[in-house]
Amino acid sequence: NRRIVLASRPKGAPTPQDFRLEQRDVPTPAEGEVLLRTLYLSLDPYMRGRMSDAPSYAPPTAIDDVMVGGTVSRVVASRHPKFAEGDLVLGGSGWQDYEVSNGRDLMALGNAAHPSLALSVLGMPGFTAYHGLLNIGEPKPGETVVVAAASGAVGAVVGQIARIKGARVVGVAGGADKCRYVLDELGFDACIDRNDPQFAQKLAEACKDGIDVYFENVGGAVLDAVLPLLNEGARVPVCGLIAHYNDQKLPAGPDRLPLLLGLVLRKRIRLQGFIILDHYADGFAPFYREMSAWVAAGKVKLREDIVDGLENAPAAFMGLLEGKNFGKLVVHVAD
Ligand code: NDP
Repeated sequence: NRRIVLASRPKGAPTPQDFRLEQRDVPTPAEGEVLLRTLYLSLDPYMRGRMSDAPSYAPPTAIDDVMVGGTVSRVVASRHPKFAEGDLVLGGSGWQDYEVSNGRDLMALGNAAHPSLALSVLGMPGFTAYHGLLNIGEPKPGETVVVAAASGAVGAVVGQIARIKGARVVGVAGGADKCRYVLDELGFDACIDRNDPQFAQKLAEACKDGIDVYFENVGGAVLDAVLPLLNEGARVPVCGLIAHYNDQKLPAGPDRLPLLLGLVLRKRIRLQGFIILDHYADGFAPFYREMSAWVAAGKVKLREDIVDGLENAPAAFMGLLEGKNFGKLVVHVAD
């Protein structure tokens, strides 16, 4: 039973030394428990937050504890009345081969044809896009919606839902390949490369009527370019700030908070953060119904970036924080 634990808290970007691969015996389930074999492990930006002991909405992972993570697993032994050997389940086993579970936080996946989608478009990232865009962004037909990390798990879904709702969608992505995919495969109206030296100017040209909804995934230079384009009454769901997750201190330079708040005030902008964990009880079932129909009809798709082997999870995760993934990053742990 291999497991990857947090060896040390990163200073800035995580390094290989912050992770350690260990071998343990495969655990044995007691009465009322199941033994799970991890098939797929989801890698997500929030894991950077768990590696740190800075204040957050969730407690940090302790040093020497297994890295947390959503998983699709097969039940390989069951002493639980609700689960049988062979069942596929969505759970949170983290970065390891096997886990014993009391079943409380497991969701049965039935005979899902494509089980890893439970970690992407039909799971946490898809739900994040759906909730943040529809309940906070509230896009109207003809409005302009901007989203960065547009080929990634959340951004790709945000843009496709906004298109379904009749909005004009401008994506931001890192590199020409990702931008081409966002335009040609996901059907966005425009996509701007964030590495382009003329990024801010090109974004302004693509948003001739300003921006009505900015779905905030990244912060940093993208936010700087977006701010002057926001329209009166714009909505800004604050979902993530990945450009800052490795920051160790605030950026130098003049304090621009008054500029931001002045803009929010004058333009009556609604800026609202959310943590998707808060919304499962009420929101997940209706999301799942509607998204399943969109996926079945081919209206929403999401490319998966599948990395083989649990031992490659640390490198893949470090790459996620630099934009090296192309689509939803998932580790294939076993068949
Ligand atoms: P992605 O699959 O989109 O992967 C992350 C992407 O972020 C990279 O591929 C890269 O895209 C982009 N990126 C990385 N570094 C930078 C940078 N310095 N500046 C700009 N972009 C960068 O990840 P997710 O879809 O899983 O997550 C997207 C955002 O949503 C994250 O901020 C995450 O924390 C947040 N989130 C928030 C949740 C909540 O409950 N609030 C729940 C789930 C996710 P590219 O190279 O194309 O620019």
